[in-house]
Amino acid sequence: MQDNKETTAASVTDSNMNIDAISPPVLTEIFDSFSEAVVVADTSRQIVYVNSATESLFGYSKDQLYGHETKILYADEHDFSEQGKKRFNPTSKISAETYRVAYQRMDGGMFLGLTTGSAMHSSEGALVGYIGIIRPARTSDQSLDTLQQVHAIASDVSLTDTQKIDAVLKVGLSHFGLEVAIQARIKGSEYLVEHCIDHYEQLTPHTTFDFSETYCAHTFHASGPIGFHFAGESEIRNHPCYRNFKLESYIGIPLEVDGKLYGTISFSGYSPTEPFCKDDYILMALLADTVSYIIYRKTVEDKLLELARTDELTGLANRRSTLERLREHAKLSYRSGGYLTVLSIDLDFFKKINDNWGHSAGDAALVGFADIAATLGRDIDFCGRMGGEEFIFVLPNTDSRGGVNLGNRLRERLAAAPIKLDNNESVTLSVSVGVAMLEKGESLESLLARADEATYAAKRGGRDRVCISELNN
Ligand code: GH3
Ligand code: MG
Ligand code: MG
Repeated sequence: MQDNKETTAASVTDSNMNIDAISPPVLTEIFDSFSEAVVVADTSRQIVYVNSATESLFGYSKDQLYGHETKILYADEHDFSEQGKKRFNPTSKISAETYRVAYQRMDGGMFLGLTTGSAMHSSEGALVGYIGIIRPARTSDQSLDTLQQVHAIASDVSLTDTQKIDAVLKVGLSHFGLEVAIQARIKGSEYLVEHCIDHYEQLTPHTTFDFSETYCAHTFHASGPIGFHFAGESEIRNHPCYRNFKLESYIGIPLEVDGKLYGTISFSGYSPTEPFCKDDYILMALLADTVSYIIYRKTVEDKLLELARTDELTGLANRRSTLERLREHAKLSYRSGGYLTVLSIDLDFFKKINDNWGHSAGDAALVGFADIAATLGRDIDFCGRMGGEEFIFVLPNTDSRGGVNLGNRLRERLAAAPIKLDNNESVTLSVSVGVAMLEKGESLESLLARADEATYAAKRGGRDRVCISELNN
């Protein structure tokens, strides 16, 4: 059979059949009971037949479509030409395949269609036309519903940031019909899972991977979303991420927070899926914007919280935060019976520094002192500024003897390292230190009062010394 624009779809099934016998009215009888839209085009991609489901899906009547190129159905001309290059051309060897593409209705509305399409050949192998069977990949109601859910999550003030990100991942996962959702932070070569949902419950937050071995290695440096619907048959099948995780389908997008690359969000599955299409990528961009904003707001809130806890001049914990942390350690100590020791520290003759060199020299001396104090002790110990030139050290799991040792080390460090003031002069600081260890059942107020009394005792004793408070003194 010759290529012939007049050929009807029916002629394809059997070159010997009577073409006239399978005319559009006959096709209508067969295909009108189908819930999928059936579109048949001739070799130049002009529509020669559509069924009733096509009319209701696209909003055109049959007569409005006949004679038009199938381009009229596509949301994007580019997709029309891409599909032409891929399968709807005389040389295509691809057999019937299911793919996703965005379509446009007569009223302008767009939807994502799942299409099984192929070229049709006569028994002699000549191209006679093309057929596409289309059903909405996701109904537009579902896409709208997904967007509404994301919006509702983002604006729900009762949810924490973590709950919001988890909820957005869950919505995305069910929208794409995949199995693993991850929001990751990428720092250097580390891929840190910050939030995740795994249908198989194997992956948990805080897990880290070598970044280069994850699918997101591709995504992080991409300018937008990327997806593989069948990794085993794609160019990444030799990549370690495929060998390690065996995820066949993946869609991911970089996350930008406050203008900087932060990490990625991704959805993946262990079986191949239909190819991702433009709508999927648009939805990914919206999900990424939502998650980025949640992370951005959380970072700003964390910074504010940090500022509220930090002493502006010295960078040490301020009074409120020092007392909070001390209270936490006291609770632990009450529960476990472990030691807890505090050092109350008052700089000696500090007023003289202000008087001799001015207030800003005094400030510089306080900063110098804080720098030394911050490097003393173990990681678990900490020093906070209680106000003015008064500081306390909190030493968990340490008895009063350990406290005295630290006090003396501080004195030695100060004596050995005069602090440079901003006027090129330097000053050697000394401190009076009071040590008190938390006793069984003792309140924090009492502990701090005893430490202060010991400090006064050190002052009275001549300053530059450590005094210890005994409970029954
Ligand atoms: P001592 O404790 O040895 O008895 O003498 P002192 O001179 O340190 O004692 P006092 O409590 O009388 O003085 C503390 C001084 O610390 C008074 C105040 O001007 C100064 N000071 C408190 N906070 C700051 C600060 O933030 N910056 C500066 N430059 N000085 C401060
Ligand atoms: Mg003082
Ligand atoms: Mg003082």
